[in-house]
Amino acid sequence: MRDCTFCRIASGDEAAPIVYQDEDVTAFHDRNPQAPTHVLIIPNEHIESVNQVTAEDAELLGKLFIVARQVAEEEEVTGGYRLVVNTGSRAGQSVFHLHMHLLGGRPLSWPPG
Ligand code: AMP
Ligand code: ZN
Repeated sequence: MRDCTFCRIASGDEAAPIVYQDEDVTAFHDRNPQAPTHVLIIPNEHIESVNQVTAEDAELLGKLFIVARQVAEEEEVTGGYRLVVNTGSRAGQSVFHLHMHLLGGRPLSWPPG
């Protein structure tokens, strides 16, 4: 999608500190980190949010978790990290290209705000 920042990052048209990329998934450091480790994991394909996912996306969505595990291992946060998918503006979604936040490296309280 032309006007989507995360599509541009996935395609290489916009620079980002990428930590993992394959034909389906890209992971890169959040530019406004909320924890010592804050990585965003996105499908390369434009999906607006969880509200738009379909059964056809099942394999792709599963891959986001596999990449999350790999990044958590590389970042050495497997002892405690959180995966967050904000969905809709009322939940704080500000970029409407599906993304999973991987947050770790500090204690994470519950419930989130
Ligand atoms: P959300 O509020 O769940 O939609 O999260 C969007 C996240 O994307 C925020 O944490 C932003 O800091 C991050 N973000 C937005 N634009 C970029 C970018 N160009 N590179 C890296 N992170 C970004
Ligand atoms: Zn997009």
